[in-house]
Amino acid sequence: MKIITLHCDYIKFKALKKAVKDAEELPDKDEKEIKECLVVLTAVEKGDSPETLNQLIEAIEKTAKEVKTSSIVLYPYAHLSSNLAPPKVAQEYLQNAESLLKKNKSFKSVVRAPFGYYKSFELKVKGHPLSELSKTFSSQDSSSPEEIEEDYDIKKLLSEVSRTKLDTSKLKDNDHRILAQKLDLFSFNESAPGSVFWHDNGLYIYNKLVEYWRNVHRKAGYQEISTPQIVDNKLWKISGHWKLYKDNLFITNREGREFALKPMNCPGGMMVYKSQPKSYKDLPLRLAELGKVHRLELSGVISGIFRVFQFTQDDAHIFVSEKQLQTEILNVIKLFKEMLDIFNFKYNFTLSVRSKDKKDKYLGSDKLWDSAEQALTDGLNKLKIKYSKEQGEAKFYGPSLDVVIKDSLGREWQCSTLQLDFNLPERFDLEYIDKDNKPKRPIILHRVVYGSLERFIGVLLEHTNGNLPLWLSPRQVRVISFTDRNIKATEKLVSQLKESLPGLRIDSDNRSETVQSKIRDAEMLKINYIIVIGDKEEKSKNLAVRPRGEKPKFDVSFDNFIKDMKKELSEHN
Ligand SMILES: [Zn+2]
Repeated sequence: MKIITLHCDYIKFKALKKAVKDAEELPDKDEKEIKECLVVLTAVEKGDSPETLNQLIEAIEKTAKEVKTSSIVLYPYAHLSSNLAPPKVAQEYLQNAESLLKKNKSFKSVVRAPFGYYKSFELKVKGHPLSELSKTFSSQDSSSPEEIEEDYDIKKLLSEVSRTKLDTSKLKDNDHRILAQKLDLFSFNESAPGSVFWHDNGLYIYNKLVEYWRNVHRKAGYQEISTPQIVDNKLWKISGHWKLYKDNLFITNREGREFALKPMNCPGGMMVYKSQPKSYKDLPLRLAELGKVHRLELSGVISGIFRVFQFTQDDAHIFVSEKQLQTEILNVIKLFKEMLDIFNFKYNFTLSVRSKDKKDKYLGSDKLWDSAEQALTDGLNKLKIKYSKEQGEAKFYGPSLDVVIKDSLGREWQCSTLQLDFNLPERFDLEYIDKDNKPKRPIILHRVVYGSLERFIGVLLEHTNGNLPLWLSPRQVRVISFTDRNIKATEKLVSQLKESLPGLRIDSDNRSETVQSKIRDAEMLKINYIIVIGDKEEKSKNLAVRPRGEKPKFDVSFDNFIKDMKKELSEHN
């Protein structure tokens, strides 16, 4: 069984039409709305037993308690699994789950969405760390005999892992999964659920974002590090992840030691800091890391690149003294603004501060909190950034600043985060020797700008409908021959362009198709500039240039074209 629990402000749903023949009969088909609830998206699988049912109930009870809700919505959601139980079995199973949940006196309401219907639904998920969790349950004794067998049926395995067919019927045209397929950017595959297979064109975008990120960070005085993927659980115990986050870790045992794939980069950064004694002269120390992290979630299937098992965080850990805190906070906010403005996103800043009446639940002195919160407010004001303030939303170990970007469809995505941390320096016993020769604790600033590179690319694709700016575009210029007579001149121009614009992605289309159809194909690929070479252009040596989405410009001189391209390319730096 696979489930996703979502802690929601509300869910609305309405049964539209039967999806399976013997779907249960409903008393009415009115829209239902449940507020402040825990929605449990559930897929019942082959082999699910009373044991998995118990695991389900326990998990729901545990999560409901943690997020403090007494309203449960059991929602059949077949899309989570490719190994579904037959409808009749699944329906009975969910009915059993419903009656077991209703026995729990602490639940004020238990609602089960109808089984076997196409439904329209809308929900609003809260934004805290426990608001989205995914889990898989299985019976201990369900190991299948074919797993032990040594003669694998390779054909069968191959069909199982062959490229996941994308059902595009329900997706919008600008959905990043459709764009990725049309533009040959990346794909997903059952063999590595929730992980991206990057193709050349997609990886080009990824690498360009990294290149830009590196330039900005180098200028801002960051060092770049890289830390191991598989790390002993000792480190996760020190950092606290083992206790709080174990369910989401990929764990492996070797030679009596337990390791986890890193879900976060922080402990790695701490170990680099600790590798040598530090003095006040080393601070602020800015250690940036493009870290691949793994978190166990049910994903790929649901939302493509937006929720994945494996993703890249553009992380950094900045170690500062108390005195440097203010300046460094301002530096980070400046950097957020600089990098986000490049992409023309609309964004909102949210400042999470401590609650004034429960001061004892926070780590660190009052004075430290006051000055940190003041520094964040000052920084935002200084840069004239509008923000909302969430009183009492700060984590116990430090205030934070979150940036939510709004894409062209008005949807909000969490990207940049600045989290102050008064806790990890204690846990990892981090020190530096101050001017007075005494050891002091640094303060840590955790921060990401893109957040997850994978998700950022997904949002960017949908925001631009795949029309990427020249510097990020994997297909920048295409030269098209008007007739077969012009092929030679076309190829000559391609090599001249490549020489004058090194590194640019330039290709040609010399097929014996009509010019209109060649232009249409190039437009489908969202190429930034299409140049058509006919007899007239051969003679005049000037170019006919079609910037993407605009009318063609004739008689453009080669030199002017190169100049304009160079200007456009340099604009983001
Ligand atoms: Zn961190």
